[in-house]
Amino acid sequence: MAMNETEKRLLFVVQKHAARRLHYDFRLELGGTLLSWAIPKGPSADYGVKRLATRVEDHAIEYASFEGTITEGSYGAGKVIVWDTGDYWPEAEGGPEPQTREEAEALIRRKLEAGKLAFTMYGKKLKGSWALVKIRKEEAAWLLIKHRDEHANPDLDILEDGRSVVSGHTLEELQ
Ligand code: MN
Repeated sequence: MAMNETEKRLLFVVQKHAARRLHYDFRLELGGTLLSWAIPKGPSADYGVKRLATRVEDHAIEYASFEGTITEGSYGAGKVIVWDTGDYWPEAEGGPEPQTREEAEALIRRKLEAGKLAFTMYGKKLKGSWALVKIRKEEAAWLLIKHRDEHANPDLDILEDGRSVVSGHTLEELQ
């Protein structure tokens, strides 16, 4: 492992959230906070499928490990599990490969500003190359797309495994 390999990692988390409507909260660490998108249908391992991902407010980095119940009357009331988590890293796409966390974060900011971020995920469920692509004219609307690689699988429903990668509980089993 290269020097500072651990330090330069960036975290992602996908929380399955049984709010008024079930959705998956897709969160990427950037600048010490969690950029967040709500994905009603959840991620798909099929490279032919584009999933709507609506940008929502950033969350505190501490929220990445949250699993439990948001109390009735609060925004997003309902149960939450950590459906997947791990590291992610931006893809250079022909540009210079980011060597440090700072370079990676600068690249991510540029790509998000331009409306397309390609990145590699090192999760337990989500792996390989993915992209977030902004839908023009709609500020908050993005698409989450799986790139065609060895981790793409049109025949696999990755949502079938509804268990938390932390506790092993499904939303229903969560107390
Ligand atoms: Mn949510």
